[in-house]
Amino acid sequence: MPLLSVFNREGKLLPPSEIPLVVLSDSEWRARLSPERYRILRAHGTERAGCGTLLDNKQAGVYSCGGCKLPLFSSLAKFHSGTGWPSFFQSIAPGNVEERVDRSYGMVRVEILCGRCGGHLGHVFNDGPPPSGLRYCLNSEALDFTPADRLAELADPAVELAAPSAPAGTRQIVLAGGCFWCTELAFEQLAGVLDVESGYCGGDPQRANYRAVCEGNTGHAEAIRISYDPSRISLDQLLDVFFDAHDPTQKNRQGNDVGTQYRSAVFYADESQLAAAKQKIQDLETAGRFPRPIATSLEPLGPFHSAEAYHQDYARQNPTQPYIQHHALPRACQIRDKYPQLLTR
Ligand SMILES: [Zn+2]
Repeated sequence: MPLLSVFNREGKLLPPSEIPLVVLSDSEWRARLSPERYRILRAHGTERAGCGTLLDNKQAGVYSCGGCKLPLFSSLAKFHSGTGWPSFFQSIAPGNVEERVDRSYGMVRVEILCGRCGGHLGHVFNDGPPPSGLRYCLNSEALDFTPADRLAELADPAVELAAPSAPAGTRQIVLAGGCFWCTELAFEQLAGVLDVESGYCGGDPQRANYRAVCEGNTGHAEAIRISYDPSRISLDQLLDVFFDAHDPTQKNRQGNDVGTQYRSAVFYADESQLAAAKQKIQDLETAGRFPRPIATSLEPLGPFHSAEAYHQDYARQNPTQPYIQHHALPRACQIRDKYPQLLTR
């Protein structure tokens, strides 16, 4: 895993630590990014000089990757180069911006890329100002800007997992199995599960709200973040319940809920979670547990956005709602019947 610097919940940039790469397929990138963003970040495009939205931005804050939110540049290193593209004399942290020789168009240039998702950012040249003498020449479209007073919004899930506010020894896993009202209820009844939070994962951070996610084109999945005590319930047991709490053979749907927002996914925070999920799927396939292949995608954990307050504990708060009566409660009961040893007493 690469050594990258990310922000914590207090809006502080942390020293480099091992952070998983973000690796998505071409179709996943297309679903996640706007066409122009895709053209720049994934197809190595360049925006026209003088046109970028961040060219004249003089606010204090941090510029992060438009593909995966990794912090890349601070406003403290921004300068006016007169080239028509946003320019910086250094990156925010070693490792966060990668360099690669680019011989396209008959020139020899040094391309710069995001250290986590490999997104194309621009190029770096040797004609910058002191102290570095470098000029990082960026496409605005490759960047998101976060003002200095809102840096906590850049808090990265990779370090949030080890946040000191969580009780010592607590672990988290983010899972998506269709409507989060249903999956939240299924897991809340398990002993050792300390908290289940409904939210959105795997999509455009700017549009992480229920209305946008329901339209199905933000890239998000409705997901739950489970905090658990590994001394009382294991990741393996949680994955067993996960694969019984929804139909993992349906691709981008659960029954009448259709769209990528209802996809089945495990958002892994590290290599051990990835390996556990791969093994579980392989075991279930080998055992012939389902009549069709498992369609669950394994995706690197990006930002998890907590859903609006009224979605939290929705099934418990709205037990007579028809969707809860017909979908969430029967599923939760099936889990109770199958896993009596895992229930809270
Ligand atoms: Zn990135």
